[in-house]
Amino acid sequence: MRIGITTTIPVEIVYAGGHMPEDINNVFIASDDPQAMVLRAEHDGYPRNVCGWIKGIYGTILETNSIKTVIAAVEGDCSQTQAMMETLEMQGIQVIPFAFPYGRDRDMLRMQLEKLAERLGADWQSVIEWKKRLDGIRLKLRELDDLTWQDGKISGRENHIWLISSSDFWGKPDWFETSLDNFLSDARARQPKKGRMRIGYIGIPPIFTDLYELLEERGAAVVFNEVQRQFSMPFDTDDIVEQYALYTYPYDIFGRIEDINREVERRNIQGIIHYTQSFCFRQIQDLIIRKNVNVPILTLEGESPGPIDARTRVRIESFLEMLEV
Ligand code: SF4
Repeated sequence: MRIGITTTIPVEIVYAGGHMPEDINNVFIASDDPQAMVLRAEHDGYPRNVCGWIKGIYGTILETNSIKTVIAAVEGDCSQTQAMMETLEMQGIQVIPFAFPYGRDRDMLRMQLEKLAERLGADWQSVIEWKKRLDGIRLKLRELDDLTWQDGKISGRENHIWLISSSDFWGKPDWFETSLDNFLSDARARQPKKGRMRIGYIGIPPIFTDLYELLEERGAAVVFNEVQRQFSMPFDTDDIVEQYALYTYPYDIFGRIEDINREVERRNIQGIIHYTQSFCFRQIQDLIIRKNVNVPILTLEGESPGPIDARTRVRIESFLEMLEV
């Protein structure tokens, strides 16, 4: 069964149950006309002041009409997920809830993993085997990340695309791994790009379609994609419960800040772009990030899928000029 996911969830369990996960965010943003998905939601009655990603996920599921079951992270991901899922249920979509427990409570997390395994018909041994299988690919993604920030051989956009795809491994881990092997072998042979400004990107993935290109054009290299890297689970643990407890994104902002500060230092980052989405509760966290991260931060806000607007473009250019001085 194809199972839609709306954020990174324990994908090992989906595979262990014999299903094919599909990250709807990626389908939405990579579709020929993502704005049409947003319009579908608005046509069905979604208010204008609802996050574009939420409307896009809703519209994509209904417009593509190929996904009938969705796993929803009802805790830890997004305050708008529950209502979105209710509107999908109304349209006949089956919703399977999953919760990242507040405070990283390991016992509660284990319970959630076991419940999901039971619901998807996955036995625990097979879940553990899938973890080992996917960890092998994740290790290669760590090399990809190193080739980005240490060697300058992989662009920020390429890094973004590969890491973000590890939420579902394209629903075909063997194909994903072979493509990754080919990509890495080409990338290792590239000439390193040096002497560019080193930028970190934090926050949810951008709804803008050309942000990485603009930064690259203006001489900046994105050497850290915070949330995308978290999706790839770069942790040294054999324990699946621990893995999903170390994953920073669904928990409090302070765990994310610790990770950001560590990587800013390790990767020698000069400035940060914090992307926020209009009408998203995570916008509030910008003020905590600004107080706790000690490099210049430019906060951007995006609303609809498409190219960067003129005002945001000017703000980015001024930020990079300021960093250059
Ligand atoms: S951007 Fe914010 S509101 Fe939108 S889906 Fe993500 S967490 Fe939810």
